[in-house]
Amino acid sequence: MAQGKPIESAQPRARRSAQARIVWGPRVVTVGGDAPVRVQSMTNTDTADVIGTAIQVKELAQAGSEVVRITVNTPEAAQAVPHVREQLDRMGIDVPLVGDFHYNGHTLLTQYPACAETLSKYRINPGNVGKGDKHDRQFSQMIEAAMRWDKPVRIGVNWGSLDQELLAQMMDDNSRRAQPWDAKQVMYEALISSALQSAARAEELGMAHEQILLSCKVSGVQDLIAVYRELAKRTDHALHLGLTEAGMATKGTVASATALSILLQEGIGDTIRVSLTPQPGESRTQEVVIASEILQALGLRIFVPSVTACPGCGRTTSNTFQELAKQIDDFLRLQMPLWRKQYPGVEQLKVAVMGCIVNGPGESKHADIGISLPGTGEAPAAPVFIDGEKRLTLRGEGIATEFQALVENYIRERFGAEQTA
Ligand code: SF4
Repeated sequence: MAQGKPIESAQPRARRSAQARIVWGPRVVTVGGDAPVRVQSMTNTDTADVIGTAIQVKELAQAGSEVVRITVNTPEAAQAVPHVREQLDRMGIDVPLVGDFHYNGHTLLTQYPACAETLSKYRINPGNVGKGDKHDRQFSQMIEAAMRWDKPVRIGVNWGSLDQELLAQMMDDNSRRAQPWDAKQVMYEALISSALQSAARAEELGMAHEQILLSCKVSGVQDLIAVYRELAKRTDHALHLGLTEAGMATKGTVASATALSILLQEGIGDTIRVSLTPQPGESRTQEVVIASEILQALGLRIFVPSVTACPGCGRTTSNTFQELAKQIDDFLRLQMPLWRKQYPGVEQLKVAVMGCIVNGPGESKHADIGISLPGTGEAPAAPVFIDGEKRLTLRGEGIATEFQALVENYIRERFGAEQTA
């Protein structure tokens, strides 16, 4: 036997950050401090479309988004915000709403107090609050609105809308250095300075330190890692983490997962958003699913039961097990909004759907409930394992439906009220 110390499992590091509170009615979502890393998302509806926006917020919340951001870009959008909230309250959706403001946020938050009161947090982009003298005045107006209505803010810097005056100043300063930095390093520094200087200004105006969250979003994976590592060294404000303009489908998913996972493993990031461009016809909720899966894969959160499925190989010449794995996964996700209330702890469930006897029985025994389907040339029988023991064997055309019923029954018996009473 090999000598030496036992190998410790990898764990995300912890970073101490100040804790912000995002409140709607009795619902309080804490971000930072000892709170779990939160999932958030953003609508792509016209906020003035009250019903369309409320429906999409509901979908995002039901998919697991703990905070949802909406655009507030016009007087019509600002007027619509309280009505969106009313619709959500009527539907029993208590997810806090964040207002995303650019250019005219100071005006909208002042002229539409019902909007300012209804939103649970404001996003302020210091690159888009006005130029010259107007910048400080308009930024102050937004911070004053946040203090008046007791709302946290996210100072959200984005390299696509970086404060150009600050950047120009920093470029000038850089040119006077004995050994000038390269342009990318100046840009990193400008992003971080914009966030930190704005946060310091908000605190000078009286805003509570812990009610200020920060973000510095860029669209390159290595750029994001570099910027957030430095930002996390320089501040204890809670950090909103996300790769901006991540892109579509596989590219956006992989880039977001790569960047966010590296930073989260280092303890950096208190709330995340995956900025995915939906494929035509694809649900907006996909960004919530991916964000949740990133946190679940890292072992930081558990949102939904996990389905372990093998990739299949030459031993599986039919699609049966892929179809069953997908069917079970879809079924579990669809039921989760109801099951979260009905079966507390159900998200811990582990299901295995395997393609043949090579790894099927072994993997199924490690799951709470698992099935090992027959591979090519194997007897047409599918043993089912429950809590590590082989309990029964399914045969014939109805295997998928019967297994789904067994899963549902297992959930009812293990997580149902009679078991927790
Ligand atoms: S469990 Fe069987 S079917 Fe699945 S990948 Fe392994 S050998 Fe192939």
